[in-house]
Amino acid sequence: MNHAEFMRRALEIAQKGDGLTGSNPLVGCVMVHEGAIVSEGYHHEFGGPHAEVEAVRRLPHHLDARDITVYVTLEPCAHFGKTPPCAELLRDRGFKKVVVATLDPNPLVAGKGIRILQEAGVEVELGVLKEEAQRQNRRFWVNQTEKRAYLLAKWAESVNGWMGVNQGKSVAISGSEAKPFVHQLRAKYPAIMVGVQTWENDRPQLNTRLVEGPSPAIWVIDPQFRGHYPEGKDLQIFTKKKVEDARAVVLEDFSPRAMLEELWERKFTSVLLEGGKRTLEQFWEAGMVDEIAQIISPLALSVGADHVAAPTIDFTPSEVHYLGADTLKCWKR
Ligand SMILES: [Zn+2]
Repeated sequence: MNHAEFMRRALEIAQKGDGLTGSNPLVGCVMVHEGAIVSEGYHHEFGGPHAEVEAVRRLPHHLDARDITVYVTLEPCAHFGKTPPCAELLRDRGFKKVVVATLDPNPLVAGKGIRILQEAGVEVELGVLKEEAQRQNRRFWVNQTEKRAYLLAKWAESVNGWMGVNQGKSVAISGSEAKPFVHQLRAKYPAIMVGVQTWENDRPQLNTRLVEGPSPAIWVIDPQFRGHYPEGKDLQIFTKKKVEDARAVVLEDFSPRAMLEELWERKFTSVLLEGGKRTLEQFWEAGMVDEIAQIISPLALSVGADHVAAPTIDFTPSEVHYLGADTLKCWKR
């Protein structure tokens, strides 16, 4: 295996933490001795040990660190969090060389971990598979560089471009095989956001009942506060109106970006936007959509007053999957 292949392996194991690391990034670490991998570690879950700590723990004791090269997908941390800084751990263990895919995106800490190593005479190589590493942590990147929640826009439409609404109630467009997928998505996102009209139409359906995992927090965008919000219902409402409801979050700047910044302030690292049409288009036009999941059913809805046109969002899918008879088109910024 060569340089890039070792880093690719580190990225591969980092991926195992997907959906479990919360506001922390995915990180993988591989240790190589005489051309062979002798230890591996990744960040399993929020609050758990960092990838480097894992890999150091698993390293066979008889090996001399001075013969070992460490591959890590993100710059080793330089700050005291729940564990001592990984940069200091690698330095104190006396590893020969550390290969890093990318610097930390947080401008306040970027470069600090590298400096700790270099100042101690550890050879550092930076930038191996940099783009792949940044793409893998795109949520973390958006969070750290833009200080806002990452947004996935999701909707279902019929093959002839309609979203189904019948007398104020949503009509299921996608088939039964798409449902577990949607619920899995919801379980991976700490928050779900809808416009007030979608809230009024879909109220009971915003949960994850088909898969295990926590249900996301619900956020409704309702500038005039005209929706119906039953007492005791756990949700929050973005509004412009000053109302007597502890669940209301009054925003003076009612832009998509301001909402995502507010979510980030409240520790929501990502949000699933589920419509409707206008809301989806507004976020798209504001450049605030990081990812798209569009489900297209083979069903041709007939044109009628009960239907609304699907959002007009022009994107080139990066992946296409099939969920039973439905087609899933994915896009990532
Ligand atoms: Zn660390």
